[in-house]
Amino acid sequence: ASSFSNLPDAPVDEIFALNHAYVADTDARKVNLGIGVYRTEEDQPWPLSSVRLVEEEMYRQDDPARHEYLAIEGDLTFLDLARDLMFGFSSASSDSENKSKQRIASVQTVSGTGANHVGAAFLAQHFKPKHVWVSTPSWANHQTIWDLQGIERKSYPYFDASTCSFDFNGAITTLESEAAEGDVVLLHACAHNPTGVDPTKEQWKKIAEICQRKRLFPFFDSAYQGFASGSADEDAWAVRYFFNLTSPPMEMCVAQSFSKNFGLYGQRAGAFHLVTNGANPSEAPLVRKNLCHIIRGEYSMGPRYGSSIVKRILGDSALRAQWQDDLTIMSSRIKRMRQALYDELVRLKTPGSWEHVINQIGMFSYTGLTVKQVLELKSEFHIYLLKSGRASISGLTEKNVAYVAQAIDTVVR
Ligand code: PLP
Repeated sequence: ASSFSNLPDAPVDEIFALNHAYVADTDARKVNLGIGVYRTEEDQPWPLSSVRLVEEEMYRQDDPARHEYLAIEGDLTFLDLARDLMFGFSSASSDSENKSKQRIASVQTVSGTGANHVGAAFLAQHFKPKHVWVSTPSWANHQTIWDLQGIERKSYPYFDASTCSFDFNGAITTLESEAAEGDVVLLHACAHNPTGVDPTKEQWKKIAEICQRKRLFPFFDSAYQGFASGSADEDAWAVRYFFNLTSPPMEMCVAQSFSKNFGLYGQRAGAFHLVTNGANPSEAPLVRKNLCHIIRGEYSMGPRYGSSIVKRILGDSALRAQWQDDLTIMSSRIKRMRQALYDELVRLKTPGSWEHVINQIGMFSYTGLTVKQVLELKSEFHIYLLKSGRASISGLTEKNVAYVAQAIDTVVR
C-alpha cells in the first residue's frame, strides 16, 4: 500500500473547473459568464492603459534590481500607498492622520486570497476567535480559507431571494442574537460576491453599531475597490466608516486585492491591514512583526512585479488620473451590459422580474436562475455561469447579449 491510499477526495473549485470547460468548448457561440475577470467589448483580456504605460517605462529603464527580493513585509512604499487608498489618507498627512496611520499594521500579500489567508492565520493564532461569521452566500473560498485554519464557521443570511436584494433584517437579527464577543464577522467591502448587492450607508452604520456594541471583530474583504462604482473612495466608504468610529475605536482587518481594479489577476498584488484600536502605539509594529513571521514561514514575501506597477501608478498624479479613467471604462462597460441584458429580457417579455440585473453592482449578477436552468444554458447554449446563478457581467458584449437573453428566455419558459 502506498502512503496516500486513504487520501480523502478534495473538492474541485467550481469557478476554475468551469473556466476549464469553457476553454475546451469548441462551439463558436460559447459565452463565459463564469470566472470574475474583466473582458473588453471584443471579449478580450485588457491590460489597463495605465498599467501598460508603467510596463513600457519599466522595460525602457531596464533596472537591474527589478527582480531582487523585497523585504518580508513587502514593498514599504507600495504598502503606504495601498493603505492610503483603502483608508483615504492624503500623502501630506496632518498630525491626526499620522496618528490614524499608526494604528495600522500592513503587509504585502499574495493578492486578495493571500490577504484573507494571512489574516485568518494571524487571527487563528493570536486572537483565537470561536467563530467566523460568513454571509450566505459568499465567495466560496472564504469557507476554504477559514476551514483550513480550523475556525468554526457560522453563517448569517445575506440575500433575500424573493426581492433579489440584501436581507438586512436577516443579517442583523442573526448577528444581534447569535454572534458573541470575539467572533469574527466577514464583510465584503463593496460589490458583494456573488450577489452584487451591498448594504446602504444607513445599513452599514447599523452593522457597525452591532459590531462595536457586541465587540465583534470585523474582517473586510475588499476585492473590487473602484471597480464597482468607478470611484475608489465611494467603494471604500464602509471600511472608512468603521475605521473612523470612536469611543472606542474598533480593531478590524482589511484584505485588499489589486486583481480586478488594476487588471493584474495573475500577478498577485495585494495587502493585508490589521487595524489596532490605537490605545498602545507599539502594538501595530508588533502585529506586523508577527505577520512577517507567518509570511516568512509560508512564502517569504509577496511577489514584486504587480506591486511595483501599482506603486508607480498610485504614486504619480498623471498615472493615477489615467487609472481613474481605466476604472471608469471598466465599470461603465459593465453597467452598460447590465442595462443591455435587462433591456433584451424585457423586450422578450421573459417571465419574471429582472430589475435586479440593473440594480446589483460590481462584476456579478445573481440572476435567480436555478441549477437546472444554469445546466441547460451550458449544455444547450454553451453559456457558462455558476450553479448558484451567478453571472459575470463582463462576459457580455454588444455581440452576444441578445443571444444570452434569448437563451435565458428559453430556459426560463
Ligand atoms: N475576495 C473576493 C470576494 C473575491 O471575489 C476575490 C476574487 O474573485 C478575492 C477575494 C481574491 O482575489 P485575488 O486573490 O485574485 O486578489
